[in-house]
Amino acid sequence: MRKPANDNISYFGGCPTCGGNDGCVTDSARKHWYYCRTHRTKWCIGRNLFSVHDLSQRDLLANSYRLRHYEIVEPIVGVDPLNGPRGSAGRPSGSADAEGHSDGIGW
Ligand SMILES: [Zn+2]
Repeated sequence: MRKPANDNISYFGGCPTCGGNDGCVTDSARKHWYYCRTHRTKWCIGRNLFSVHDLSQRDLLANSYRLRHYEIVEPIVGVDPLNGPRGSAGRPSGSADAEGHSDGIGW
């Protein structure tokens, strides 16, 4: 039995053309971008979601540079069994209990 195609869609969405992605990078604005190298598409899944302490500012700038020609698209999304299809409205907003000053970026 074959699996449905959208079984491979990441929780964070897939390229609208092929449904896949080639990973996630964080740019110098601390935005996280999933991207498809084949179709040169990218979509932002949020900002400051992951720890990027192991990345230097140079790495982050390199990521920004690498995706500069990619087209920003609306990803296709997988289905969250709890919340249904996940859109941009489902993003957590402003829970300041973990980090306190969530906008206190030093650079
Ligand atoms: Zn693609």
